[in-house]
Amino acid sequence: MGSSHVLAIPYAAQGHIIPLMELSHNLVMHGFKITFVNTDFSQERIVKSFAGKDDVRDQIRLVSIPDGLEAWEDRNDLGKSCEGILRVMPKKLEELIQEINGTDDHEIACVIADGHMGWALEVAEKMGIKRAAFWPSAAAMMVLTFRMQNLIDDGIVDDDGTPIKNQNFHLSPNMPTINTANLPWTSIGDSTAQTLVFKYLLRNNKSITVADWLICNSTYDLEPDAFSLAETLLPVGPLLASNRQANTAGHFWPEDSTCLEWLDQQPACSVIYVAFGSFTVLDKAQFRELALGLELCNRPFLWVVRPDITTGANDAYPEGFQERVSSRGLMVGWAPQQKVLSHPSVACFLSHCGWNSTMEGVSNGVPFLCWPYFGDQILNQGYICDVWRVGLGLHPDERGLILGEEIKNKVDQLLMDEKFKARAMELKEMTAHNVKEGGKSHNNLKNFIEWIKS
Ligand code: UDP
Repeated sequence: MGSSHVLAIPYAAQGHIIPLMELSHNLVMHGFKITFVNTDFSQERIVKSFAGKDDVRDQIRLVSIPDGLEAWEDRNDLGKSCEGILRVMPKKLEELIQEINGTDDHEIACVIADGHMGWALEVAEKMGIKRAAFWPSAAAMMVLTFRMQNLIDDGIVDDDGTPIKNQNFHLSPNMPTINTANLPWTSIGDSTAQTLVFKYLLRNNKSITVADWLICNSTYDLEPDAFSLAETLLPVGPLLASNRQANTAGHFWPEDSTCLEWLDQQPACSVIYVAFGSFTVLDKAQFRELALGLELCNRPFLWVVRPDITTGANDAYPEGFQERVSSRGLMVGWAPQQKVLSHPSVACFLSHCGWNSTMEGVSNGVPFLCWPYFGDQILNQGYICDVWRVGLGLHPDERGLILGEEIKNKVDQLLMDEKFKARAMELKEMTAHNVKEGGKSHNNLKNFIEWIKS
């Protein structure tokens, strides 16, 4: 069994940890021993959120290394985070592997690193260890990221990644349109952060080339054109806990599963599920408008109001809102989202279009209302609304605010047109097929596992 110990290292964000943890669980089912490397900061949050029910650490060893930032520094400042990572993590990872190999009965046979942690693949290469990159977002995003140098050469962005002019472009006719204002690095933070992230990604593109395998959480059917542009990238998705009849793991917040009982009491296909992932923050005015919009819809809703979704969330509600909606609305801090989306009461998903949320909605045949903010979310909206046609976008007014009326109108439009649900159900069938015995993702994962074992 000397060849069965895998070290998995995610980028330290919720949407990166959950799918890599899911991949790790799949490997555990195939007899692998897993060491999962968090940053000290995310490890503390994950362990805290277990709140007594911890079936992860029985199967996966969680360890942590520093991320190069002080405890008080803002980890949502992606520019600073990238600097910290490169300054500190490679050395710490190397030391960790040396320590494991010196003390554990099973040496590390393979490193699986998040596709944004290419430096970890370089560490593995230096130490003579097999290595794979796991890309947790759309294959299209990887194609785009790999073309950053072409964007510079073609005069679309300058050497710092700043767009030369505002323009739309396509990677392929059947892929979402991309606007230069919405490139993953142009839609985050200030210009310093944007440049730091751009440089980090450029460097990452080089380091990722040392990977023996490139796998991602998608399917050929969802993104045929993207995969034809990235032939070495192999889909193994959708990676969902429901595929192995289990719970998801690695959350930063404790899940409030009482909402599942609440969903049991709602009529079939009636509930608007509202969630913005782990990162997105709404300002107070937008938060209030969303609340008013949900009230206007006059339908049951389940709304994830993360403790940090807006500053002072509890007093950001419109006056009397909670009392007025108490008979048909439920707000929770963090939901068991994958289970919520598979619940028969859910009618649609008002989502920020993070890739995991996108895959989870698609896998459950749920139509979307799209409210993307930054990074890859805008491209994912393009897939949902324009390519797969299983959702509608919400449009802001001239002040940039999505109004309650707009939310109500789009919810009505989405739920009254049966074609959205019909297409979503077709997409669900097609997607599910990939992870079943003989499916393309299933076969890729099988080959990947055989390669690690070989
Ligand atoms: N999630 C969850 N409960 C919630 C909200 C989100 O479990 O109340 C999970 C969701 O199922 C997904 C992840 O958090 O797996 C969010 O990832 P995504 O890529 O959608 O968004 P990000 O957080 O990266 O912006």
